[in-house]
Amino acid sequence: MANPVKSLKAQKHELGETEFQLKVLNDTEKLGFEMPKFKSKLQAIDLYPLKPTGLEILQINVGKMCNQVCAHCHVDAGPDRKEIMTKETMELCLDALKNHTFHTVDLTGGAPEMNPNFRWFVEQIRAIDSEIKIIVRCNLTIILANPRFHDLPDFFKTHKVEVVSSLPAYTEARTDAQRGNGVFRDSIKALQMLNAVGYGQVGSGLELNLVYNPSGAFLPSGQAGLELNFKRKLKADFGIEFNQLFAITNIPISRYLDYLIVSDNYGAYMEKLLNAYNPGAAEHVMCRNTLSIGWDGFVFDCDFNQMLDLKVACGAKHLRDFDREELENRSIIVNQHCFGCTAGAGSSCGGEVAQATA
Ligand code: SF4
Ligand code: SF4
Repeated sequence: MANPVKSLKAQKHELGETEFQLKVLNDTEKLGFEMPKFKSKLQAIDLYPLKPTGLEILQINVGKMCNQVCAHCHVDAGPDRKEIMTKETMELCLDALKNHTFHTVDLTGGAPEMNPNFRWFVEQIRAIDSEIKIIVRCNLTIILANPRFHDLPDFFKTHKVEVVSSLPAYTEARTDAQRGNGVFRDSIKALQMLNAVGYGQVGSGLELNLVYNPSGAFLPSGQAGLELNFKRKLKADFGIEFNQLFAITNIPISRYLDYLIVSDNYGAYMEKLLNAYNPGAAEHVMCRNTLSIGWDGFVFDCDFNQMLDLKVACGAKHLRDFDREELENRSIIVNQHCFGCTAGAGSSCGGEVAQATA
């Protein structure tokens, strides 16, 4: 998987347009085989329209700016992206958190820490509720990218923030191929810095979880086995400890979709997703208990629908019009990319969601 230098948007690539991505996803000719609609799979198990089970997790994308340009990035993030959540929009997020009972806030980006108001935002969330789970999707290298980020491990510790970080492999070559030259070395240093303040250590209460995603056109193998391998190798080679490993399937949108098409793997990958479709995973897809908020305050069913600009199908399309009842009763928008969440043991921001079918 070759590492790009610019976002699709900066390249003015046609896949930088969400309408074009949706057209590709629904174009049978491009696939080379007749792919059933995801919706029909849900209909067959009486799960359509797909409904929320509750609003438990608020996932907030605080901006698309990132210090990396990873090949598989579904956000199309990078240093050239300037979309950043303002303090005013953060205030709207805080209002939603004050008035409604989410047990988790999941902060993502881009590199969320690059938002100038990131630390203020974390402090405000913690002030609302000392027990709410705050997750930051930290890409690790940001900690070393600039001296002003070197103290992030201490900041995370002070505010009891759970750190979730991508590391596609425990080897330098595979990690750098997907995430950029030097990423593995800096990620290892950052993990050691997090370990040094207590993250991933037994009894510290400071959670450090890693995310594995395949570095090619294949599906992840079992999460438990991958976790064992990662734990053994990272401990033996670098003395690193962490809590859990989440195995995530690459969703065929944005830069990963571009990779699939350029490498002539698109049809075969979609066929793999279809063949691995698991109705058990469909019941537990993350959009059923999560709401995703865009950098500009718009509301989506999940991070992937956000990147395809598919806003929630109800009146509460923006945080300004937040309406819990409407959101709990909405129908979730599904499309062909949803096959990525239901293949094998399923995939979510927290990894597998079900037992894999044989
Ligand atoms: S670190 Fe994350 S947000 Fe940044 S480019 Fe890589 S995958 Fe995208
Ligand atoms: S892509 Fe989003 S909407 Fe589709 S199943 Fe996955 S979480 Fe749900």
